[in-house]
Amino acid sequence: MLNWDNPLSNVAGKNSDMSMLRPVMGLQETVSIKQPSSAHHTDDHATGLDQVEFGAARITVDDKQMINCRADLNQLVPFKYKWAWQKYLDACANHWMPQEINMNADVILWKNPDGLSDDERTIIKRNLGFFASADSLVANNLVLAIYRHITNPECRQYLLRQAFEEALHTHAYQYCVESLGLDEAEVFNMYREVPAIHDKAAWAMRFTASLGDPTFNTGTPTDDQRLLRDLIAFYIVFEGIFFYVGFVQILSMGRRNKMTCCAEQFQYILRDESMHMNFGIDVINQIKIENPHLWSRDFQQETIKMIRTAVELETRYAHDTMPRGVLGLNAKMFEDYLQFIANRRCAQIGLPEQYPGATNPFPWMSELMDLKKEKNFFETRVTEYQTGGTLNWG
Ligand code: FE
Repeated sequence: MLNWDNPLSNVAGKNSDMSMLRPVMGLQETVSIKQPSSAHHTDDHATGLDQVEFGAARITVDDKQMINCRADLNQLVPFKYKWAWQKYLDACANHWMPQEINMNADVILWKNPDGLSDDERTIIKRNLGFFASADSLVANNLVLAIYRHITNPECRQYLLRQAFEEALHTHAYQYCVESLGLDEAEVFNMYREVPAIHDKAAWAMRFTASLGDPTFNTGTPTDDQRLLRDLIAFYIVFEGIFFYVGFVQILSMGRRNKMTCCAEQFQYILRDESMHMNFGIDVINQIKIENPHLWSRDFQQETIKMIRTAVELETRYAHDTMPRGVLGLNAKMFEDYLQFIANRRCAQIGLPEQYPGATNPFPWMSELMDLKKEKNFFETRVTEYQTGGTLNWG
């Protein structure tokens, strides 16, 4: 068995010429790990690619922090944020692949000229258009931006899993587009060509671009607030508000026995997304606990303004994807729903509810996933994760 407390003992029996070894008995010596030439080293906080200090004191739970942590990021244990590890385990138990869902029924319905109304076809195409680029945007933002600034190994473990799930979602949309024989260029360019889709993507990019700036680092109150604001934009607005009109529309079709295969893909995606958002909310609240000075009155006002703007943009998306009532839904119902969701998002990060009296016109969504069970999400859903591949589409 390797003895990592005394590396020399691991090689002594195999190489008796101890003089060949560097004199590492002074435990304060630093061993440099060669950096890949492409690695950025502009920041002065830990990335996990920093020097490895030989013989340094062992990591304790108290050394760990959500942001600006200087402790070794390659040591997963001891866990400080057990909830993050649990979310990682739950997410892995929830594994699925888009090809597991047979798309035949949708292909037959889509190719039947009388199978769907024009409005129903618009809903399918626009939602595939929005999500196809949105989930890719989320994946890029996660890997190229957020990951670097969250300085905690158990959270990074979850982020790695989340990144793969975002890849699966983009795969799922591609699989739907391919199965239905849609015009790929049309679908994948909608975020450049359809105003309501473009506006949501553009809004998100503006708020999350700073995270991806290689010269941006946390470490000052201003920069830490910038990170916190962008995390709220990413997890609360983008994944927590901007996805929900689309989810309701596609899942409504499934409930009416139309495009049930696409709806099943979306049901799995919604289940993943609820977890992503819950993880993000926990991260945001943990940063607030560790850095209470960031959560100033001005910052709270700025956050509220951001959430209100997001509700307006998503309401417009509802109108654009559904100019006339269809499937027993209309755009006004989405206005109510978004206000209801926004109240919930505010409460989840400790802000006052912004839309008093807003009610949920889609109580069946709570049954499916997001609202009622969100509260004790993992306690209520662990058994379902373990039978993820046979999820019952009712
Ligand atoms: Fe996500």
